[in-house]
Amino acid sequence: MKTYFLRILAVCAAALFAAAASAQQDFSKVEIQTEKLADTVYMMTGAGGNLGVSVGEDAVFVIDDQFAPLTPKIQAAIAKLTDKPVKFLLNTHWHFDHVGGNENLGKAGALIFAHENVRKRMSTEQFMEFFAMKTKPEPKVALPVITFTRDLTFHVNGDEVRAFHVPRAHTDGDTIIHFAKSDVIHTGDAFFNKLYPFIDTSSGGTVEGVLAAADRVLKMAGDKTKIIPGHGPLATKADLKAYRDMLAAVSGDIRAQIKAGKTAEQVIASKPTAKYDDVWGKGFLPPEKFVAMLYGNLKKK
Ligand SMILES: [Zn+2]
Repeated sequence: MKTYFLRILAVCAAALFAAAASAQQDFSKVEIQTEKLADTVYMMTGAGGNLGVSVGEDAVFVIDDQFAPLTPKIQAAIAKLTDKPVKFLLNTHWHFDHVGGNENLGKAGALIFAHENVRKRMSTEQFMEFFAMKTKPEPKVALPVITFTRDLTFHVNGDEVRAFHVPRAHTDGDTIIHFAKSDVIHTGDAFFNKLYPFIDTSSGGTVEGVLAAADRVLKMAGDKTKIIPGHGPLATKADLKAYRDMLAAVSGDIRAQIKAGKTAEQVIASKPTAKYDDVWGKGFLPPEKFVAMLYGNLKKK
């Protein structure tokens, strides 16, 4: 059973890794799309995690920066909105598809902020179990220079930008950012919109933490709040609620089957995601890989 499960993980990791590698080759074709969400707040998409950008009278404030080869394109997209350089950069977590531009932006003078565990993981070698992937320590200039443990508020561009840590969610260093006046929330990878989510347990993530983070954002959000997910299209509170309910139902089902002594193959064969696959199963993680991941995550404890 264990071998079978490991084999699924290995196949899965290989597929994801291949996807990441081919994405890398295609960076030249990636275009950065900008969507205006409020007077001073924009969402930018390209390859990798979604960006949040605040532009106004004070400074350019950016959330996440995708992959290093995309930095000039991201800078060009920002230059269409303002002639100011990026002054503040906040990382939602340490993953390579969210911090890849740190070195470039750090060299260009941006001050980098993140939860303290982001700096810890970026400054040491890491092993992402699910991708079977090692990452090297980042150079000093790419590391967050200002770290926090709970929360931090930026008073910038007429907004109050509240960054707060959600413990052990997608990783152990996740930050969610609320643009209070603009009514925009960036969730980082605590929320994948219309895609089954990846939860990185080898970086301290947990299903329970993701659910708790979703609940916290649902309490803060109103029906008109614009929610930037870590991956997937711009979302509403209703989309986040659907995500939360999907993850709670599927993980609850799998947890019960683990308790009943079911093996990974039995759980996968029972198709616990069946009614969700149309909406959530066509992206990054196909259903059986999502189930294998949750089985591994929940079995660990
Ligand atoms: Zn991530």
